[in-house]
Amino acid sequence: MTEEKSSAFRARLIGVAGNSATMEVLDGEARSSDELVFCGSAQTRKVLSLREYNGHTMAELDSPVEAQVGEIVARSVERPEYVDQFEAKIFWMSEREMLPGRSYSLICAGQSVDATISKLKYKVEESSGKHIAANSIAQDETFIANLSLDRNIAFDPGSTRLETSRFELRSGDSKILARGEIRHSLRRASNVHWQALAVDKIARSKLKNQTPKIIWLTGLSASGKSTIANIIEKKLLAMGKHAYLLDGDNVRHGLNKDLGFTAADRVENIRRIAETSKLMLDAGLIVIASFISPFRAERRMARSLFEEGEFIEVHVDASLALCEERDPKGLYKKVRRGAITNFTGFDSPYDRPEKPEIRIDTETVSAEEAASRIIDYL
Ligand code: ADP
Repeated sequence: MTEEKSSAFRARLIGVAGNSATMEVLDGEARSSDELVFCGSAQTRKVLSLREYNGHTMAELDSPVEAQVGEIVARSVERPEYVDQFEAKIFWMSEREMLPGRSYSLICAGQSVDATISKLKYKVEESSGKHIAANSIAQDETFIANLSLDRNIAFDPGSTRLETSRFELRSGDSKILARGEIRHSLRRASNVHWQALAVDKIARSKLKNQTPKIIWLTGLSASGKSTIANIIEKKLLAMGKHAYLLDGDNVRHGLNKDLGFTAADRVENIRRIAETSKLMLDAGLIVIASFISPFRAERRMARSLFEEGEFIEVHVDASLALCEERDPKGLYKKVRRGAITNFTGFDSPYDRPEKPEIRIDTETVSAEEAASRIIDYL
């Protein structure tokens, strides 16, 4: 038997109609006596016959299958792994720095999912293979990391020969940032099932007589986020609504007290805040998040955790000059004295929101008026 024939059968479903499934073969080959599994929908079907069609393999199955195009198909006796967390070796090709916590698109054998590098383990020195501790990764560096996906995918860890063990990471604008190989799955995922409780978000928010939302205020320091957020919270309370204000003070002193202001820490800061907000939303609350949140990619990541219409991005806008003039906490003075570094607007960037649900120009709109506009939008 040749090497090719002994390999596991792996294919990508490219079409399905009744009893027949058309597949793009990635590895190995199917036989007419096989029982196939459609990994995404976990359905198994016996193959009655096979034929070639336009370079693809068409299988006639013993009964109709309801599977999605893009699913990986395999023999049911040699299934790939199917989880949402794994360890991988990654070669970083982009000139953009790699930051753990940021979300990327991962493409593995045609399956496309949102992925986060949940833990950077170490860099690998190319020449010696030595492991080096690292917090971030630059262009042309190789590293080992854990990845966390937003849903399960089928893959074959540790087998560099198979297409189902290799992947690409891409940015939001589809640029290839990195290529990687899956080393092994992290089993934790298969043990932690999100409990489908009968008491759900809908039941909890009905009890509170409100629709849970997240009002995400972003803007420069002293642009007016906290001032507006506090007014919104008071107004909602007066209306009998259950709201909770998350801001730098109650987060940086507790949940995120281990984080500083480097780019990597800012990404992790926002990731934790977004996940916490999601739990609060699930509890039926209206969450007001007041953070500079300077990076577009993190705001996009935060938005992606919520359902359509739940996330309301509010750009609290004021020029840097005006913010410096207001300077309610004296932070800008400290920056000018050189006592603070990595300060947004100076030596750390602020990506202006491109399409926020609401933009408030606090140079012309009072804080009261801003809060009313936001509540009207709700
Ligand atoms: P941030 O939370 O964005 O760092 P703060 O709300 O702590 O900002 O500070 C903003 C400062 O600007 C406060 O002193 C506030 O009174 C003042 N301010 C002046 N005009 C406005 C406005 N239209 N909206 C919000 N704040 C304003």
